[in-house]
Amino acid sequence: MTAKPIVIIGAGQAGAWAARTLRTEGYTGAIVLIGQEAHPPYERPPLSKEFLLGNSEFAQHVLLAEEELQSLHIQAMLGCCVQKIDREQQQLYLDNGTTQPYGRLILATGGRAVRPTLSGVDHDRVVTLRTVDDAKRLQQFLQAEAEQDVVVVGGGWIGLEVAATLNQQGHHVSIVEFASQVCQRSVDAALAAELLVLHRRKGNRFYLNAAVIAIEQVSPTELEVVLSDGQRLKSAVVVLAVGMKANDELAAAAGLHTDGGVVVNEFGCTSDPLIYAAGDIARTPCSHTLQTIRHESWQNAKDQAQAVAKAMLGKAEPYTPLLMLWSEQFEWMLQVAGMVKDAHHTVERAVGNIGKLIFYAEATGVIVGVAGINAGREFRWARMLVEARVAVLHEQLSNPTEPLPKLLKEVAHG
Ligand SMILES: Cc1cc2nc3c(=O)[nH]c(=O)nc-3n(C[C@H](O)[C@H](O)[C@H](O)COP(=O)(O)OP(=O)(O)OC[C@H]3O[C@@H](n4cnc5c(N)ncnc54)[C@H](O)[C@@H]3O)c2cc1C
Repeated sequence: MTAKPIVIIGAGQAGAWAARTLRTEGYTGAIVLIGQEAHPPYERPPLSKEFLLGNSEFAQHVLLAEEELQSLHIQAMLGCCVQKIDREQQQLYLDNGTTQPYGRLILATGGRAVRPTLSGVDHDRVVTLRTVDDAKRLQQFLQAEAEQDVVVVGGGWIGLEVAATLNQQGHHVSIVEFASQVCQRSVDAALAAELLVLHRRKGNRFYLNAAVIAIEQVSPTELEVVLSDGQRLKSAVVVLAVGMKANDELAAAAGLHTDGGVVVNEFGCTSDPLIYAAGDIARTPCSHTLQTIRHESWQNAKDQAQAVAKAMLGKAEPYTPLLMLWSEQFEWMLQVAGMVKDAHHTVERAVGNIGKLIFYAEATGVIVGVAGINAGREFRWARMLVEARVAVLHEQLSNPTEPLPKLLKEVAHG
């Protein structure tokens, strides 16, 4: 009898990296990659940036093209949704009526864009942005005419990136945000204010502390977004960017430990030793906060998938990463590592003529996070300082003539 395959549910970034790493790390058994989307695995970050802008083709963002799937002997079942995991029989039930046995399983089901319950939210011109098909739909509406009014609901990372991209295409963008600042979940008020200044300087309009109560159609090509204070914002298309919901229902129904994501240990293993999880779906221990967190980032989807694949092959190394993300908006390349809010104090350091690093420290001086704006390669050293969890003197940190690698070496040697 042939051994049952390793099956990966979810052919997104984490699924693709898990499959590829299993092979490159020497696994010779069967690998089955099941993905709900009909497309080969691809990277999502360009969907709100260069792809939406029309500066790149989908093929450039594909992670595992047909030829590579074949050469790595990975059986891809695309356009297929797993509906049930039977852990006792080690079997999956698919929406095409078939079953798929597994020896071990990787959950890489990611998440979906949240669609709030609002009157008018199901209108054709109200879109979310999670998949390449979503991005193409949005493009279609916006390419029809130049200089259209667009309302983006949600001032988080994806909302701001879409707002920047559409502004660059010449559209008139308004961002409605429920909180008093943008990116409230992830950055402090000062950095949020800088983002706001950047967008406003380019002409984007913000409605903060504002709630959308309805979306109404006023003509075949025009909607109005109604705010709770009675204001009405005209919009050819409404982009909903109010967050992501982890696709953890499958795991929960199978009795795995879930908590707004599938809970895994430092090796990516779930409460069932035969089942692992990686990427946006996984709630992972964080060495810095001593809590579990669900990372929603490109870096994590790749790194955790690789860590999980290695762990499954007996090469386990603890994976308890810092929170890490990057974002591109207008001329800004923003990078974040660790905690960049609720710090005791911050220290700024200039990088070249246009860049800077902002370090976030505890009262003891220990650096717990860093944000880089156009900081280029300097960010890598700054991130290592955060990872080292060390206290660095304010004067040294803020002095751009003190090289970060030297500082890192000094603090590492006590
Ligand atoms: C528009 C956009 C811009 C982004 N920009 C950035 C950025 O600038 N920087 C950054 O760090 N991160 C960014 N991200 C986040 C990053 O793309 C995600 O963290 C990453 O894609 C997560 O990968 P994943 O494989 O875990 O999940 P996903 O990419 O969500 O893939 C999961 C896949 O599983 C499939 N699936 C789900 N359930 C099932 C099932 N039952 N059966 C079969 N298949 C299933 C889904 O259809 C999906 O294809 C962005 C995300 C988006 C949407």
